[in-house]
Amino acid sequence: MRTPLIAGNWKMHKTPREAKAWLAAFQPLLSSTPHDHVDLLLGVPATHLLAMRDDARDLGVALAGQDLSQHDQGAYTGEVSGSMLADAGASHVIVGHSERRAYHAETDAIVAAKVQAARRHGLVAILCIGEQERDRDAGQAENVVLNQLRAALEGLDAWLAHEVVIAYEPVWAIGTGRTATAEDAQAMCAAIRTDLRTRHGNLADEIRILYGGSMNPGNVASLLAQSDIDGGLIGGASLDPEAFLALTQAAQEHAS
Ligand code: PEP
Repeated sequence: MRTPLIAGNWKMHKTPREAKAWLAAFQPLLSSTPHDHVDLLLGVPATHLLAMRDDARDLGVALAGQDLSQHDQGAYTGEVSGSMLADAGASHVIVGHSERRAYHAETDAIVAAKVQAARRHGLVAILCIGEQERDRDAGQAENVVLNQLRAALEGLDAWLAHEVVIAYEPVWAIGTGRTATAEDAQAMCAAIRTDLRTRHGNLADEIRILYGGSMNPGNVASLLAQSDIDGGLIGGASLDPEAFLALTQAAQEHAS
């Protein structure tokens, strides 16, 4: 079945030097803990990839960019392309995070273009979708999330879609300490999988769907126990190697 994925999102935290120290602290913790049933990943600033690449590879931790340009190259000052990320050591890239949508005006069309750019450069897109609190209060959460999903995967070859990872992140739960109940998170992840199945058939069973939003060592077990939740996209708790290890252990226990 689907291997759980524990994916950190460091956002704009840590310098490259601090990132190397994080890996050095994580190494002995991880080596004394079984983790063969879990995939691990860190989404880090683009400036950190080269500094982290070798140590992360030795640990078996994949690296992701946190964003990429929809363009492949050109006069786009400040942007980072998919080929730059891949060449610097990323295998994945986070696309459409709610902070990008909110603070950088990323529309569904831009997110879709970025998913395509990720594919062109051989990067697995971790596609973030999620409703605002007002959408949930209005009973529109599922509509909003499924519309984001469909828009982002629009135009992607059906057979490639299964290489995308979906991260369901209710916006009101990100960085707030409020977590969706395991039942609500499961209901949404199941709706996402059902929607994927209508377009991609049984490939939908291979697509990993993560939950994100204040996941931490205290709530991870109940979330991973849900049949359609295949891991987590974790912000705050991923900054601490011990907390990240606890999340890894919970995923390992769940999968074994
Ligand atoms: C995130 O950044 O995607 C996230 C889920 O953050 P946090 O775990 O801090 O809520």
